[in-house]
Amino acid sequence: MKIALVSPKSPPLSRNVEFQDFLKHSPEMEFYRQYWSGLGSGLLVIGALTPNNVELELIDEGIEEIDFSQGYDLVAITAVTQQANRAYEIARRFREKNIRVVLGGIHATILPDEAKLYADSVVVGEAENLWPKLLDDFRHNRLSPIYASQQEVDLKESPIPRYELLEEKPCKIVWVQATRGCPHDCSFCCASRVYGSKYRHKSIDQVIHEINKIRQIKKHALIGFADDNLLCDKGYSRQLLEKVVGLKIKWIGQSDISVADDNDLLRLVKKSGCVALLIGFESIIEDNLRGLDSSNWKFKHLKNYVEGIRAIQGNGIGIIGTFIVGFDNDDISVFNKLAAFIIDNHLAGAQIAALTPFPHTEVRKNLLTEGRVLNTLWENYTLYDVNIKPKKMSPHELEKGILDTFKKVYSPGAAIEKGSYFKSIFSELHQKPK
Ligand code: SF4
Repeated sequence: MKIALVSPKSPPLSRNVEFQDFLKHSPEMEFYRQYWSGLGSGLLVIGALTPNNVELELIDEGIEEIDFSQGYDLVAITAVTQQANRAYEIARRFREKNIRVVLGGIHATILPDEAKLYADSVVVGEAENLWPKLLDDFRHNRLSPIYASQQEVDLKESPIPRYELLEEKPCKIVWVQATRGCPHDCSFCCASRVYGSKYRHKSIDQVIHEINKIRQIKKHALIGFADDNLLCDKGYSRQLLEKVVGLKIKWIGQSDISVADDNDLLRLVKKSGCVALLIGFESIIEDNLRGLDSSNWKFKHLKNYVEGIRAIQGNGIGIIGTFIVGFDNDDISVFNKLAAFIIDNHLAGAQIAALTPFPHTEVRKNLLTEGRVLNTLWENYTLYDVNIKPKKMSPHELEKGILDTFKKVYSPGAAIEKGSYFKSIFSELHQKPK
């Protein structure tokens, strides 16, 4: 049996050609581009759940063409929202050749009824509990239209992703997932709706084993922790990072700002090889953060943003801040305020995204009620394209404001300033007794 595991190519990051060109070619954005590169581990987990006697071909359409003439027995496609329509097109082309197609991933999990229109089967939720049964049904010619898991996967039972499938692929970064779930429930985010609010994690040994495996296959790749919120369970993070120290790797990951409250943990984050943390600040406007999540967590932490940034950077860790613009309290003055915040606080990088009405989020529900969702063309849900009518500016002003802010915070001048700031931090750190 031969199975193709397909990651569809993503659409251009923006429909605006000037924007596309800047995101693609600005030398100051190289690290940012690298951060978002590489395949997620979802298809590699499917690979690990597939018996060794099945031939597998991993196709990353972002870097290679799909050969539709290949005689696969089954094609499994995973997609996030912006890839969904391309996933449906790929599914259509294979099904025309009577090849069965399975769709999974975040978008299919959120909208299984839509995905069902384009596939023989849809995997709803985490694959670990579903793929072996699906494969068995496929062998016996009794595929069901939907495979849905009733219970959350115990990550300690999750197999080591089949990293061998990356052997022939060029990867600067390889993603590991140590945890799933996020205790917050931000109104714009699908992650906690897919993985749940309960924080689950793999055993420390599993994660170390996975990193060692990656290093056998891609010796020089940067390790990326794909977890939505890697460091929110401080006890687990400490145990994990104490072991990571010995591996002598370089890594990046995502956290919320609470990591800044624990300087011992921050020291360990740095010692274990962290190059940069991506932190979801979301907004610097108080009224935007009020009610953003049900416990008002982000709102309560706004007053600690600057102090928290200093604490993290003081340990020699760069910060990539993620911000959203287009909230109801944002008028065009938000762009200058945001650029000043990012530059004055020496953030190593920033993602400035348009508020996007992803399916099944609170944000979408509210904007739909108010008739402010401009379209449902999933390929436009790139984070840089504007798909809503903001309250206090026009869609054009929002798009232009995002591009102008990117240009300011990724200007050559800002890069020099950032560089000298970090130079002074590193020289201070070197002078401190260890
Ligand atoms: S903290 Fe991040 S992962 Fe968690 S719900 Fe908010 S945006 Fe999503």
